[in-house]
Parts: sequence; C-alpha cells; structure tokens
Amino acid sequence: MSAYGDWEPVIGLEVHAQLFTETKLFCGCATSFGDPPNTHTCAVCLGLPGALPVLNGEALRLAVTVGLALGCRIARRSIFARKNYFYPDLPKGYQISQYEEPLCLDGALEIEGDGGPKRVRIRRAHVEEDAGKNLHGASALALAGGAADGAESIVDLNRAGTPLVEIVSEPDLRSPAEARDYLKRLRELCVFVGVNDGNLEQGSFRADANVSVRRRGDEALGTRVELKNLNSFRFVEDAIDGEVRRQIALRERGEAVRLETRGYAADKKQSYLLRDKEGDAGYRYFPEPDLPPLSVDELFVAQVQATLPELPDRKRARFVEEYGLTPQAAAVMTGHPRLAAFFEEAVLSGGSHAELEGNAVATANFIQSEVLRAAVFEGLDARLPVTARQVADLLRLVADHRISGKQAKEVYAALCGTDRTAESVVTERGLEVVGDRGALEKLARERGREHAGQADKYRKGKTALLGFFVGQLMKQTRGSADPALANEVVKACLDEPPGD
Ligand code: ADP
Ligand code: MG
Ligand code: ZN
Repeated sequence: MSAYGDWEPVIGLEVHAQLFTETKLFCGCATSFGDPPNTHTCAVCLGLPGALPVLNGEALRLAVTVGLALGCRIARRSIFARKNYFYPDLPKGYQISQYEEPLCLDGALEIEGDGGPKRVRIRRAHVEEDAGKNLHGASALALAGGAADGAESIVDLNRAGTPLVEIVSEPDLRSPAEARDYLKRLRELCVFVGVNDGNLEQGSFRADANVSVRRRGDEALGTRVELKNLNSFRFVEDAIDGEVRRQIALRERGEAVRLETRGYAADKKQSYLLRDKEGDAGYRYFPEPDLPPLSVDELFVAQVQATLPELPDRKRARFVEEYGLTPQAAAVMTGHPRLAAFFEEAVLSGGSHAELEGNAVATANFIQSEVLRAAVFEGLDARLPVTARQVADLLRLVADHRISGKQAKEVYAALCGTDRTAESVVTERGLEVVGDRGALEKLARERGREHAGQADKYRKGKTALLGFFVGQLMKQTRGSADPALANEVVKACLDEPPGD
C-alpha cells in the first residue's frame, strides 16, 4: 500500500498566513506589497529605542476568524512573547509572537486522506509579526539602483511587523499527498474567510514541514527534520518525499536522523542542511513587557462567529444536495469564493424553484466550458468576463428553446466585457428565428412537402426516417436550431395528416 515499504512517514505542518490588514500588527505602517524598499517603516517597526507597540484590532479579528473557522477554542486570555534571535531582517533583535499561551487552541481540519476523509488536529494558531526581507545579488542591485554594486545585500523592512497567524498541526499526516491536501484545504479556508490571498509564491502563505519516519506499527515518533519555506504545492510534495527517502536510507544504514533545519533546492530536488534545529531554550522566550495580556471576551468571539461565511466543505456538500451538481462540478464551483457566489447568483436569478436543479447543472456546465476560460483569479479578487445576471438571462433563453446551445456560445461571446443583455444580442442578430418553434414548424412542413414520398413512408412505419428530416432541418438552419426542439417539431409535423 505504501511507497515506503516498512516505513511510515509522520508529518506535521506549520503554516504562516498573512492576515490581510491595511496596516501592520503593532504600528500604522501600510502592509502593501512590492513598493520600493523601506518606504513603509516607522520607529515601531524599525525597532527604535523607546517606541511602543499597539495591537491592531483588525488583525486580532482576522486571527479569531481563522481560529473559529478551524474549530479552535479561543483563549479568553493570551500572552504575547518575545522570541529573541539575531538576524539582519529583525531590527528589534526579537520577534513578538505568542508562546505558552496562544490565542487559538485545539482545532481540526478535514482533508482527503490516503484512506478516505481524515481529520487533522490543529494544535494551535497564534498571532505574530513577520520579519523583513534580505535581498541579495541581482535583486538587491535592481532595488537599490546605484547604491549597490551587486556584491552587496540590502535589508527591506517593508514587511517587518506585518501580521501573521501561525497555524500548527499535530503530526497527523502520513504521506506527502496528505500534506499537500492539508495545505490546499487550509489555503482554501483562509481565502474563503477572507483573511489571506493564499499566495505561496509571493510568500503571503508559507509552509514549513516537520518530517520523521518510523517503522510501521511503532508508536514512538522518530526524530524530525524541519523543511523550511516550501513555496509551491509541488515543492511541498517533492520535498517531503525526498526527505522521507533520505531518512529511510539513513536509518537502513544504521545511522541516526539528526534534529535539524533543512532548505529545499527545487532544481536538484534535494534538501540541504541550513542549521541545527534551534531548541526553544535558544530563543529565551519571555512575556512581552510592552503589551498587556490579550483579553478576548465572549461577545467579541460570538460576533466574529456570526460573521463567518459558509465554509468550503459545507458549501460543496450543499451544492451537491441542493442543486444536484456532481461532486466534481461542486468542487470546481467552490474553487474560489467569488466563483461560488457568481454561480449561486446565476442559478437563483435564473429560474423558478421547480427547475432549480436542471438550471443549476446547466449553469455549472456553462461556467466550466465558457466563463472560466476567461476568468482571472488574483488572490481574494476575481475578474469574470460577464455578470451572473447576464449568464442567467442567456441560459433562460436556451431553456425556453428560443436559441440553441450553439447560439448561446455566440451570444455569450458578444456579451463578454459589455453590459448588454442576451435578449438584445439575440434580437440584433436575428438569431431567435431558428430557435422559434413556429418558424421551425414552418420549415419542417416545407421539408415534408418537398420529400412527400419519404414523409409518407415515415407515416407508414419507417420511423428511422425521422433522422433524415431532422438532418434536413438542421441543415437549413445551418445547425443553429435547438436539436431537441428540432426533433420534437419534425415528429409533430410528420405525424400531421399530409397536405396541410
Ligand atoms: P517546535 O517548538 O520546534 O516548533 P513543536 O513541538 O511545536 O516544535 O512542533 C512543531 C511541528 O512539528 C508541529 O506541526 C508538530 O506536529 C510537528 N512534529 C513534532 N514532532 C514531530 C515528529 N516527530 N515528526 C513529525 N512532525 C513532528
Ligand atoms: Mg514551532
Ligand atoms: Zn511601522
């Protein structure tokens, strides 16, 4: 069953997700991305002596939102702590984080496990500030212009102090694929509740993987290695797989796995040693003296709970139950919160309740085959080529047999990027005629007279000739008649007594 024989991988993930606030966690500087280095800094995030941090209330609200979405208990009281270490991108010489008493505890996330649906326990989720960024070589040169000669590095502190939530799982994952699915689900959840844009490449959603192996059936966990900053889903899977194999090889040679922190070189598909793993003692954690204990009351938690949107799992299940979508179609329609809202608006504004299911399936199909081709999803935003209302009106014309499915595509192309209605495009292009029942009947009767002999044979029982007449009708309308309607009309007309 396993790719690793007698060995079982054990994986726990630590995810840092940026909380999408306008300003930083402890100061008023903007969190905007991609601006010239060191343009969003102040005494607080530069760590100048005497500057005092003030907690950003919106960051707290977003962190509680994530915690509740993960089913965590929200601590009524939590403590900010200083994590002390030296690095050029950390001007204060410490990071304000939470340590012994985090904000969110004991949650869970449902994933698609190797052996079916699986609940991965969330140990904790805490609030902390991000560090700045060190830029080396070419990227430093590009940003610093004449001030650097390419051999220098620059420190950009725009990101220093940006709010993060660190979400720590229990070591419940058992394969690289499970780890990947966990990350996908977690990212989806963060995007759905509107706290994060889920961008691994730009680093607003970052994952570290803790990996160990043990003999199948063993209880005790093996020594783990921490893999840092895996910035794509592909890397997460590849890096963990490579690390599992490296550890198995070591153990089979009788060597021990060392507790260490490793980076991942995607080009070589290999991890490399960064440093020995720092024990907590090395960070000299202590409670942040410049911030009081964080108190969160029941009312605040209840208010945040009340604003939680429908979560993606629930939405998927509902799209299947309520609208009759296949699980696959439901998964596509819930791929992004804006798409899910678009789909649902199109369905609900498009038809009466009695035909909701058929309408929903048609809408999902149309969105998949047409709308998604030109849709652009960027973080929490989406650009869709038409409005839900336009799609609803268009599909209404198809459902009423006023235009064919094929014509719908033509009308759709004319609607994209405009605020026109489907109705006006149909009228302008004179498309409706061939989908109009009366017009088709007229054509069908003409064909019946033209091929009177065949029509007679049909009436005497050679029903296979139906296809011939439908074909004639389709040819005459250049393929634009609705095939189902054409069938129906031809049948009705041939069954009439000849000679009008
Ligand atoms: P640290 O304090 O060094 O960050 P933690 O005990 O908080 O270590 O664990 C960090 C992460 O490592 C968690 O996600 C946890 O599930 C995972 N983890 C802990 N022990 C192991 C292990 N033996 N194998 C794999 N993952 C582990
Ligand atoms: Mg940790
Ligand atoms: Zn600042």
